[in-house]
Amino acid sequence: MTVMNGVRLPGDSTVQHVKVGVPEPGHGQVLLRMKASSICGSDIRAIYREHLGTGPEAYQGVIAGHEPCGQVVAVGPGARRLQPGDRVVVHHIAGCGVCEECRAGYLIGCTSPLRAAHGWQRDGGHAEYLLAEEATCILLPEPLSYVDGALVSCGFGTAYEGLLRLALSGRDRLLITGLGPVGLAAAMLGRALGAGPIIATDVAPERLRMAEELGLVDHAVPADERATATIRELTDGRGCAASIDCSGSGAARTVTPGNTRTWSGAPSSVRTARSPSRSPSC
Ligand SMILES: [Zn+2]
Ligand SMILES: [Zn+2]
Repeated sequence: MTVMNGVRLPGDSTVQHVKVGVPEPGHGQVLLRMKASSICGSDIRAIYREHLGTGPEAYQGVIAGHEPCGQVVAVGPGARRLQPGDRVVVHHIAGCGVCEECRAGYLIGCTSPLRAAHGWQRDGGHAEYLLAEEATCILLPEPLSYVDGALVSCGFGTAYEGLLRLALSGRDRLLITGLGPVGLAAAMLGRALGAGPIIATDVAPERLRMAEELGLVDHAVPADERATATIRELTDGRGCAASIDCSGSGAARTVTPGNTRTWSGAPSSVRTARSPSRSPSC
């Protein structure tokens, strides 16, 4: 059996280098040569430092890394779309494939015991090769590098799901609380979906500045006690039609619904997506 190098994260801020066998693709699976495998905030918080043992991040001692991007080197029987040489991003979660969430395309929301995320419950990208389901691989367009692909796989995918669930469109003003990688991705995708103006808050001045300089937001608002008043002012007192919390901070989670627009005072009109960076997705 051919052997490869990999990394496990046993907790307590420890990295364990291991040698394991190179897997062979089974039915509907592909073997990828890893080209990039980025590190997510959830890896550092829940996998590297401590093992929560529960929930979506319940780590099963596998090869770490849930943001993989690589090149197909072998395909298993039944694989119908990919072939050796294809460059792919791997969506980090393989769902059961048959529940309501999976069938709607939201593998993230799958709660079946069969659901498994790379790097948490099945081997991830911090190794020379990765075994993936063909169905969870997305072809990487040529202008994007493997590093771009790795960063897109979880951070952008998470933000995109939140915006899809909000049914965001050009009709909507968008509020984003938190401008880390997921918040910046939400702003970029929100722009592409036509929303505007886009208002974003963060506690870090450099993040606000970066979002403005990149042209991703129309208004960068410091997340202080005056934030709600500023957002009201920017929206003629109406708030935003859609809001998404990308900070995971308790304070931001009260700002988000508090500044989401209501029509005729009907609370059912409120559309918010809560903290994709801390949802079961990531
Ligand atoms: Zn992630
Ligand atoms: Zn499912």
